[in-house]
Order: sequence, then C-alpha cells, then structure tokens
Amino acid sequence: MIARMLAAAVAAILLAVPAAADNPAAWTQPTAPFRIAGNIYYVGTRGLASYLIVTPKGLILLDATMEANVPAIEKNIRALGFKVRDVKILLNSHAHFDHAGGLAAMKRDTGAELDAMDGDVWALENGKHFGDQNYVGTFPAVKVDRRLKDGDRVTLGGVTMTAILTAGHTRGCTTWTTTVRLKAGAKAVVFPCSLSVAGNKLYGNKAYPGIVGDYRASFKRMAAINADIVLPAHPEIADVMGRHASGKWLAPDLLPKIVAEAQTDFEREMMKQQAIAK
Ligand SMILES: [Zn+2]
Repeated sequence: MIARMLAAAVAAILLAVPAAADNPAAWTQPTAPFRIAGNIYYVGTRGLASYLIVTPKGLILLDATMEANVPAIEKNIRALGFKVRDVKILLNSHAHFDHAGGLAAMKRDTGAELDAMDGDVWALENGKHFGDQNYVGTFPAVKVDRRLKDGDRVTLGGVTMTAILTAGHTRGCTTWTTTVRLKAGAKAVVFPCSLSVAGNKLYGNKAYPGIVGDYRASFKRMAAINADIVLPAHPEIADVMGRHASGKWLAPDLLPKIVAEAQTDFEREMMKQQAIAK
C-alpha cells in the first residue's frame, strides 16, 4: 500500500515537470555558428539562441540554453576560432531551463562570472522558476556573481551591454541592448526577453502577486525600445535563421510587432484564466 502511494506520488512529481520529449526537436539540434553583425555571433542550437559578443578583452555569452546543449555551444565557439576559456562574462535572458539550464556547466568550463538581474537570482541559484506556474521544469542551479538592477551596464573590452528589466515571464526577465558599428553606421541591437505567459498563473499568484502589472509595464517598455536588429532567445520569433539565409538583419519595425502579438496572446490568456478562476 505504502509502496503504491509512493509510486503515485513519484508519478505526480514526474508529471509536473515537462519531459524532454515535450520540447521541440530543434531545441537540441546543433547548427553551425555564424556572424550576425559586427561583433555578434550565433552559437546556439537551431531552436534556442545563444549569442556570442566578441570584445578585445574576451567574450560575453548571452544564454547557455539547455544543459544538454553545452557541448554543441562550446564546439561552435571553437569553430569560430575562439577558446571556451575566452568567455569572461555569462549573461541570461531569464531563469528558465531552456535558456539558463546550461549556465552551470558553462560557468564551470569557462571560469566566467555570471551577471544576472536581481529578480532572477533566486531562480538561478535554486534551479527553478520563481512564482506559481505549471509549465517550466527545473535546471542545474548556478551561483550569480554580480546582481544587476534595471539599467545596469556590463562592460568588457569597450563593449557595453545594458540590462533592461522587462519582468513578467520571469521576475527578472532581462532585455539586453547594445550597439554595433556597421558600414551603415551605429545600429541598436536588442535581445528582447520572452513575453509569453508560458504557464504563469496570472490570477492568485501568491509568490509573485505583481505579475500582471509587471507584464503590462514590460509590454509598454519594450515597445518603446529602439531596435534596428532584434535577437530573441527563441530565434523563430525574429526569424533569425531566415535572416541568416537572406543577410537582412536590419528590421526597425520588428520589435513593436513582436510586443503587440505577445500582448494579444497575454490578454487572451488573461480572459481564459479569469473564466477558470470564476
Ligand atoms: Zn521562458
């Protein structure tokens, strides 16, 4: 009897965490690295972005995707002619397994420091989402070396990455911005954080009661950011692979469109959850 109850309890726990089979195949599908623009390169898998920012003093890596992808990302860094140990700073869009799951292994292999937004530090250091939700799985915990707040800058070798807090999807969801110098002049590059609801409880979220207000503030804030080049954590949102094929990276109208679509989805999800809560 006890054994059967235990088995049921274990099954319930397993069901609460999405199985690897639930993830899109592209998330763990290796792809050759490529230069996006100026000093920015793509080193992620086909379905999950990892961006490498090259400076004269070493490399910055934004997102390590899933733990299983770390060898593929490291192979891509080496294929571009860099050393894995040249990565000096690790950054994260947000503390979910599909973007932060590889950070612990990457930190071990690179010896780099991890800089992360205050609101995501708990999630990163505990390897799980902060707040009530029913979607996101756990991931290897990783120690944060520098806690950031909204507007903080991370600089290396004359390159500056600015952290903009666009919370909701996670409490420390961070939109990173930088500038690339191209023949056409200086261009604003934006790495927008995710804006999807993704299983977040919007009503009665006890751990994160301010979640709805944070989403709404983030829609407004992100729509107002000037972006010539948009590089999201989920590459298909900005058709990163298609742009790589065409070479057309400049898309100054894209970010407001992405935000508007996310907001429409959010309002629909609000109504759905409201109907259930009633
Ligand atoms: Zn996420």
